[in-house]
Amino acid sequence: MSEAPASPEAAEPTAEPADPGLFDRIVNLCKRRGFVFPSAEIYGGFRSTYDYGPIGVLMLRNVKDAWWRSMVQLRDDVVGLDAAILSPPAIWEASGHLANFTDPLVDCRHCGARHRLDKLDDADVCPTCGTRGSFTEARQFNLMFKTHAGPVEESSSVAYLRPETAQGIFVNFVNVMNASRKKPPFGVAQIGKSFRNEITPGNFVFRTREFEQMEMEFFVPPDEGPKWYEYWCGERFEWYLDLGIAPDQLRLRAHGADELSHYSAGTSDVEFLFPWGWDELEGIAQRTDYDLKAHSEHSGEKLDFFDQATGTRYTPYVIEPAAGATRTLMAFLMAAYAEEEVRGETRTVLRLHPRLAPYKVAVLPLSKKAELTAQARQVLTALQPHFMCDYDETQAIGRRYRRQDELGTPCCVTFDFDSLADHAVTVRDRDTMAQDRVAIPDLVDHLHGKLGF
Ligand code: ATP
Repeated sequence: MSEAPASPEAAEPTAEPADPGLFDRIVNLCKRRGFVFPSAEIYGGFRSTYDYGPIGVLMLRNVKDAWWRSMVQLRDDVVGLDAAILSPPAIWEASGHLANFTDPLVDCRHCGARHRLDKLDDADVCPTCGTRGSFTEARQFNLMFKTHAGPVEESSSVAYLRPETAQGIFVNFVNVMNASRKKPPFGVAQIGKSFRNEITPGNFVFRTREFEQMEMEFFVPPDEGPKWYEYWCGERFEWYLDLGIAPDQLRLRAHGADELSHYSAGTSDVEFLFPWGWDELEGIAQRTDYDLKAHSEHSGEKLDFFDQATGTRYTPYVIEPAAGATRTLMAFLMAAYAEEEVRGETRTVLRLHPRLAPYKVAVLPLSKKAELTAQARQVLTALQPHFMCDYDETQAIGRRYRRQDELGTPCCVTFDFDSLADHAVTVRDRDTMAQDRVAIPDLVDHLHGKLGF
């Protein structure tokens, strides 16, 4: 097992969140402003499932686009894939998930609550009722969702919802290599839904049974495993910093030997300082040749690489950075959330990186008068091909600014009565609240400059 790169300096974990109400206020904002709604709410909700609203869907897409841009678009050694969610038992038999993808489950005999043993602070005390020594023996609980493909519920048609996207990449290794003419070192990236029947979902969208992952399998010559592992730990850590998470809220933590998954020869987690303490955003694992060999043995197909330069055949080693899109969205929201005093009032603002901000620009006519709105809409139409825009003409301008602050919109463009004569608009900056007058023909360039892309 190779050493993880040294963890960057990070603050010590806090036992008590600095602001205990913060988490609830963020969850509240998410619902009020259309980021995240509890699923099936009119029927009382459905067990930690969530729906992404008009704003959340934009932000989630931006998180995934930022990942894809960094992992695929800006590189020439990674290609993409979108594999099926429904999969035959053979895949999970070979990968070891049927036997090993389990969590230890205990029930409290006193109150009936069910807990994941490895996540308890004290393995002997029920956190729900506080009773000591009330737990049943731990049972291993498989996290995969099982279903039936086809009309008859017979064992031959059993299927699983994938609990990770990775296996779809391994089983397509040869297809991708042949079609893309890539050779190790190269990677295959995939974004998509995964499903786990979690024992204790919770903490809003941090742990849900249905979630989205962003995973990449990077195939390398076996002796280059440690080098690439270090490389990807560094790259992935930087990605979060580049998108605005403060260095004291992020750390890289190497797993102890007792934590390693059945396939791993070394794993480091990128962790974020959530209100409840440090917790995982992403795992970077050295999966060795475990998966390709297992699928090769079970399927009888060769899943290896013939290196013409050296005349040797080998099974590549794999480095896997595996992140959660939905969990990461939550971390970006928490990192961006700020409350500040402005002229005696509290301003809530999401200081999201412009790439992550749901709307880049909001176009706001100063009043609802037709002479302003008609031309403000023309400005909107001119901006829409370039930026995701919002348009809002109701309420006082100050309240509309506050609303955009809560959505994290970096720039507000206000069309006022002077605009009719000077053909210029006011551009208000979300973070500084400074306002610049900009000629309408220069607006697209000006906004590109402010947003940084
Ligand atoms: P945990 O220890 O939190 O259960 P894990 O180590 O099993 O997670 P991985 O299998 O490494 O998670 O999955 C990679 C990433 O997928 C995680 O870092 C996380 O961001 C995301 N993820 C995993 N499970 C969930 C879930 N139930 N809800 C939301 N995101 C998840």
